[in-house]
Amino acid sequence: MGSGYQPIIGLEIHIELKTTSKMFCQCSADYFGKPPNTLVCPVCLGLPGALPVPNQKAIKWSLLVGKALNCHINKISKFDRKHYFYPDLPKGYQISQYDMPFCQNGYLEIYPSRIGKNDKKINSVKKFRIRRVHLEEDTGKLVHQDKETLIDFNRSGVPLVEIVTEPDFDNSDDVKRFLEELQILLRYLGISDCDMEKGTMRLEPNISLKKLSLSNLQSSIDSSIINDQLPNYKVEIKNINSFRFVKQAIDYEIERQRQLLENGITPVQETKGFDEKKGITYSQRSKEEAHDYRYFPEPDIPPIIFSQKEIDEIKPPLSPFAQLKLLVDNYRIRYEDAFILTRDLSTLTLFIKIIKKMEQILIEKNLSIEALNQKLANLIINKKISYFQNIEDFVNKALSLLLPKKTDKKLLEETVEKILIENPKPVADYQSGKKSALMFLVGQVMKRLKGQVLAKEVIMVLKKFLDKKNK
Ligand code: ZN
Ligand code: MN
Repeated sequence: MGSGYQPIIGLEIHIELKTTSKMFCQCSADYFGKPPNTLVCPVCLGLPGALPVPNQKAIKWSLLVGKALNCHINKISKFDRKHYFYPDLPKGYQISQYDMPFCQNGYLEIYPSRIGKNDKKINSVKKFRIRRVHLEEDTGKLVHQDKETLIDFNRSGVPLVEIVTEPDFDNSDDVKRFLEELQILLRYLGISDCDMEKGTMRLEPNISLKKLSLSNLQSSIDSSIINDQLPNYKVEIKNINSFRFVKQAIDYEIERQRQLLENGITPVQETKGFDEKKGITYSQRSKEEAHDYRYFPEPDIPPIIFSQKEIDEIKPPLSPFAQLKLLVDNYRIRYEDAFILTRDLSTLTLFIKIIKKMEQILIEKNLSIEALNQKLANLIINKKISYFQNIEDFVNKALSLLLPKKTDKKLLEETVEKILIENPKPVADYQSGKKSALMFLVGQVMKRLKGQVLAKEVIMVLKKFLDKKNK
């Protein structure tokens, strides 16, 4: 913002669904590590006359993604053909969704990983708008070997959800945080591994810079989301496979474009790649406009119509953010610990099970542990006990760690006597009315017994001995 340009950043994210079969045929979608071109049929090879049949589960899961992202679900949608020529696309078009996607107009919130000690409320929650969520099919995969390029069609036709945000971001840190949160949310849904190394989550930021004039500086104060007038160009960076690289690519582009604009040059609208080793973006091709794709409705698949009942029946689980708030408000867990515990659903589920089991055992034994939930959270987060073993084991070990030890009365009394002899001055101080000297003596006893004793018991024994001495 300093030098008068505001970055305008939007995102396109592709998520491969982990359905059993592909999007429009019965071939297995579980292609990772399988011999090339073994999971193919006339449909996903785009042979003439083959007819696509939509995968119902993939459609349901797309709606689930849309709902989890607070989108409106369209009752009428359709598939369209998106035409372009590339060797990994045997039909010459990709079946996608154009003007009637399944889901539109949602948002996702990002929130900090920790809050200040005295903050009662979670400040700095930011909302980023989702433009649309649609369903399409993946392409084949080009394998470059020495001087030749091979094609593997195993991936061709695997269901792919595309999530498009509004250009609401103005810095790469928010983008990174947004993507992390999106990944966690999608994993909660159980629809994709979102594994960037395997390419089941692919990231494409688009970046342009807008000159800040006095008037839009004013409007950016009025509302954080302006973007009524977007720049007349946009640079899209394709297929980045790590959050860190997305951040690097964005920062690099912002700087590159700023320098061009400062020299009076408008950056060209283009699609670029990111060179991970050099940390720079490089030109791939000039960016297509929508009309270049000659979109038209897929004639082999009728429009998709959902009843209100069908839409209502799709219910995403509580979001990680909602779970975090529950842990803080209902379970009295520290915010930053609740943040850690809600990063994946299996840890969270186990944690809640452990709490329930622990409460049940304590009731049976008529015992209680102060701040039990937080102490259990500490055990899991500090990996004091491996929490992936069975719950019974965990609970038994946790009990032995958390329950106060039975004090060895004789040892305590002996120690108190010794400490009193070794510290005549504090003893005299205490007896002449300086009550604070007691805490020093308590500390000495605790230290000698390596903390394996309750302070209130030490105080009791100390007072007993001191009063006896006084007489
Ligand atoms: Zn197939
Ligand atoms: Mn796409």
